[in-house]
Amino acid sequence: YDNLLLYKQQMESVSHLAAGFAHELRNPLSVIRGFIQLSALTDDIEKYYKTILSELDRMNDIIDDFLSLSRKAPEREAQQPYEFFQSIVSLIRSECLLRNIKLVHDFQRVSAQLLLNRSMIKQVFLNVLRNAIEAFDDNQTDKRFSLKGRVVDKYYVITVEDNGPGMEREVLDQLGKPFFTTKEKGTGIGLPLCKKIIQEHNGHFEISSELGSGTTIKISLPLEQTL
Ligand code: ADP
Ligand code: MG
Repeated sequence: YDNLLLYKQQMESVSHLAAGFAHELRNPLSVIRGFIQLSALTDDIEKYYKTILSELDRMNDIIDDFLSLSRKAPEREAQQPYEFFQSIVSLIRSECLLRNIKLVHDFQRVSAQLLLNRSMIKQVFLNVLRNAIEAFDDNQTDKRFSLKGRVVDKYYVITVEDNGPGMEREVLDQLGKPFFTTKEKGTGIGLPLCKKIIQEHNGHFEISSELGSGTTIKISLPLEQTL
């Protein structure tokens, strides 16, 4: 009975995923179809090219994101948390500077190490930063993105905070469902992917948000004792 229930749940989540994927691809497909039809009615096809190409690129992005959702467990290497997260900071510094976002960071030094796939963890932080950037109101003048790393029990806990608009209860409740997005051009795969990557590292990924004051993401990664 237990197995049957599990099987049913798995089938449900697979069909949910497949339905979402198909739905996401249909939108750009129908735009492309429409533009090709329109372009047949005119000599001026060039002006339709741009949209067609950008919709094709979008389909490609959706497929890339979808594939990384199902990629198998990545290879990992031992990393010093302090050094590794400093490299994350340098990765995102210019992006923040460019967008007038104050970047605050404070990582605790620790001798224990983390077992990480560097590029996947980088992808997590880039996704989280991209979401913050997309959430900020252009008119906000005191934009801030902060990263803090602390040892808590056997975990290295990174708290990522933005002081953007935060999320409504209804949005917060839907987070983590693949393809849930509030953006016209969103894929809704960013956060589910982050969560999956962190879980594959035996860690935890938690989101909290306060409407009007910002969003906080807590990422906990298990520390390995050094010999
Ligand atoms: P996408 O960015 O493609 O919409 P995500 O899974 O990355 O997909 O995010 C899902 C939704 O969560 C976003 O559409 C947005 O509504 C909300 N969200 C995520 N991060 C933030 C944030 N830092 N501030 C406000 N809302 C956010
Ligand atoms: Mg996103």
